Order: sequence, then structure tokens, then C-alpha cells
Amino acid sequence: TVRVRFAPSPTGPLHIGGVRTALFNYLFAKKHGGTFVLRIEDTDQNRYVKGAEQYIKDALEWCGFPYEEGPGKEGNFGPYRQSERKHLYKEYADRLIEEGKAYYAFDSAESLDTHRKDHEAKGKTFIYNWHNRLKLDNSLVLDATEVEQRIARGDKYVVRFKSPQDEILVLNDEIRGEIKIDTNVLDDKILFKSDGMPTYHLANILDDHLMEITHVIRGEEWLPSLALHELLYRAFEWKAPKFAHLPLILKPTGKGKLSKRDGDKGGFPVFPLEWKTEDGIASGFREDGYLPEAVTNFLAFLGWNPGTEQELFSLEELVEAFDLQRVNKAGAKFDPEKAKWFNQQYFVKQDDETIAKDFIARHPELTANKEYITKVVSLIKERAVFTTDLWDLSSFFFEAPTEYDAKALKKAIKEDTPVLLNELIEIVNGIEDFSADNLQDTIKGWITSKEIGFGKVMQPLRLSLVGAMKGPDVFEIMSLLGKEESVNRLQAILN
Ligand code: GLU
Repeated sequence: TVRVRFAPSPTGPLHIGGVRTALFNYLFAKKHGGTFVLRIEDTDQNRYVKGAEQYIKDALEWCGFPYEEGPGKEGNFGPYRQSERKHLYKEYADRLIEEGKAYYAFDSAESLDTHRKDHEAKGKTFIYNWHNRLKLDNSLVLDATEVEQRIARGDKYVVRFKSPQDEILVLNDEIRGEIKIDTNVLDDKILFKSDGMPTYHLANILDDHLMEITHVIRGEEWLPSLALHELLYRAFEWKAPKFAHLPLILKPTGKGKLSKRDGDKGGFPVFPLEWKTEDGIASGFREDGYLPEAVTNFLAFLGWNPGTEQELFSLEELVEAFDLQRVNKAGAKFDPEKAKWFNQQYFVKQDDETIAKDFIARHPELTANKEYITKVVSLIKERAVFTTDLWDLSSFFFEAPTEYDAKALKKAIKEDTPVLLNELIEIVNGIEDFSADNLQDTIKGWITSKEIGFGKVMQPLRLSLVGAMKGPDVFEIMSLLGKEESVNRLQAILN
């Protein structure tokens, strides 16, 4: 059975790329009746950020594709935080050393640096592997007694993987197909450090094996590690999972990888939820008024497409349609305008009560009752892309204008306006049925009978109610505001 994992490092908030990885793993798991696992890769304590794990869980929950197995949802393969699995890793590093597949290295940072600089001076890159090191200065310590002495002496060491010499590896990626790698260009990567902690590579493949992961679906930035990971499986004589590397997410311009800072510059969120740091608050899709369904839908299209014209997909429909074979190799451009478009599609589909509930939650200061707010929502929602647009579109339903748009005022208020508005006030006061239809019939009838242009009345009327020449149908506004409030506002503009 299919088991996939999302394996973030808790080093900060998840951004679009991470959430997309999680989504594709989730879709793949659901499509194949498998399990979606969350594993927290926190072996690098220097980069650990407090609150990041909770953020990751909350973000997945909010997006609507929570993990099924992981921290707090224990299955048979826990613990799911690598820091709690520390005791597991050393024995595997030792096993590779015993079998001659890994070795202790005692290089100081300075000596490595010297080698690197020497190479650079000659226009070459320094590839750290045992065969190069032997050629270079024969300084590589491989003799067991000497190793023991140095460790006993307290020398700092690392355990490095011994990559094979003169071999062409043929790797397979579910999305990219066959990839050939010459092992002579591989560094002997560090697997384990003298502080007792494994590196990402060792912990990652061990846990994938121990957690019986069948498919590793992750970002393209991990493709360069694929050779090492395959070699590690080979060294342990384990069956490797299948690998799929998702395409990069590019900046809206298509030039370069989308970074966390692009959002600040472009004014669009790159995090699912808000992230608070000492230097401030980074905006999140949720806080900016995006709906999780919309976020899920546009994330799915970052690197995947169904091969049809259909663009709107519920999560269930995505599960149905998803196919790794339809994921692109080429980078996917993040288009914030398209993201807005998706949101609008989902926004207007909501019923008025749902929108009103969200609106009220975001504006606890509103004192109007729910029924009134729901009616306001029904009048303005067509113009909104986000819940966060609602206040600007509707504030005049909740508070009378305190000032009027200067340009509109100049245009709307003429010499005869006061006379006309006073007459209008009288008519409005006499209207019993305050429905929009009746208001329209009565007021338009009166204007027609006066044989004046509609604008002469309608412009100052709207301005008095709204404060600007915007908003939905004037008669709908009046009807909702009610007689007393409408008359008050008409009187106010006359003063
Ligand atoms: N911990 C790695 C990350 O933060 C996981 C990479 C992988 O999925 O193998 O992205």
C-alpha cells in the first residue's frame, strides 16, 4: 500500500512551495488509498525555530489536507520527530563503517578550505571524495587503530559516505524519467557528526525506509541528492522508494525561483497563515481573505494540469484527477492574479450566511445584527474577491458618511439641489412600503413627473447615502438602511 510523507524542517513558516509538496503528497496518497505521513526533520538544532512545527500542522489543517499519521497522530512507525529518533541513527552509521561503505574523516574546516581555494585558483572545483583525497595528499585516515586513537583523543570527526568510483548511475524519477550520473562527480557527503547527530541525508533515507515510505514526492531542490539517496539504499541493501521531484515555483515574472520575499515586494502572500517574527508580521493567505478551497485549487495547478479545460476542482475532484505523470518538469510560474481569480470563483459560490459569518468574525466591532449584515453581503458580494474587501464595499451600511467625495459633490450639488432634496425627503417620509421596488417606482415616477434629468436627483441621493458615487443599487441601499436613516442622511448633506 502507498505511504507518502511530507518531511519539513521546522525552520520557519511553510511557504507556497512547501504547501504544494504537502498537497501533491496528499493527493497521491488519497488517489491510491494510501497514507499521508508528516515527519518533522529537526536534526539541525541550529536552524530550529520555535512554533514552526505547530504552524506546519495548523497550515495543513487550514488548507484542508491534514496529515493522517505523524506527531500527535501516532501510527505504527513513530516517533515522527527526528529529534526523538536520535538513538536510531548511530547504529546504521556504524554499520556502514564496518562494511567499508562509509569512513571517518577528521579534516579541519581550514584544511578543507585550503583545498577548495587551491582548486579554485586552478579553475577547478574541489570534489571531496575518498579517491580524490588519496590522490591529493594521502592524508585520509582509514586505518582502524589510528581512527580509534583519534576518536579517543577527542578529535572532531564526521562520518562520510564512500561514493563509488567510475560508475554511471542510472536513476529514475517518476516525473523526469531516466537521469544518468557519473559517480566521480559526487562528493562523499557527511552522514553523521561527532555531536551524535545524523545529517539530513542519513536520517531522511533511514526514516523513509523504517516508515515504509513507498513514494518520495518532494521539491526539485532535492534532485541533486537523489544519487546519494539511491546509493545509500544500495549500501543498506534496501529497496528504494520511488522518487518524484516537483518542478520549481517561479516568480510571477518567470525569472528565478519564487522566494519568501517576493510576496512582500509584490504585495501577495506566500504563506498559508500569518507568520509573526521579531521583525514583523508576514501576511498569510488566510488573513488576506483567501479561502482554503481556492488556495488548494491554485496550488494544484502549480506544476500539474488535468489535460482538460477544467480549472475549478474541489479537493475530491483533484484526488480523482491527479496523476504524477501529468506533473510538468518545467518550472511553474506563480501568478498572483490567477490566484485572485480562483478566490473570486470560490468566494461568490458561498452562501450569504457563510460570508456574513466570516465578515463578522473579522469585524467584531460591528454592532448590526446578523440578518442585516447578511443582507448587506448579498448586495455587495459580487464585487468582492476576498472577505477582506467587504468592509470597503459596505462601510456606509454601518456608519453614515462623515465626508463626501469632493469631486462628486461638486458635480452633484447644483443650485436647485436643496429644493429638490427637500421635496424628496417629504416623498420618502410618505412612503409606507419601503421595498426597493416600491422606492424605485415612487421616486422614479416623481422624477419623471417633474420632467428633470434623473441625475439631478439620483446623484445627490447616492452621495448622501454613500458618501461617494459607488455602491450597489440606490433603492436597495435605501430599503436596507430604512426610512429614518435614509432621511437623516438626506438631511445631513443639506447642512
Ligand atoms: N527536510 C527536508 C525539507 O525540509 C525534506 C526533503 C525531502 O522531502 O526529502 O525539505
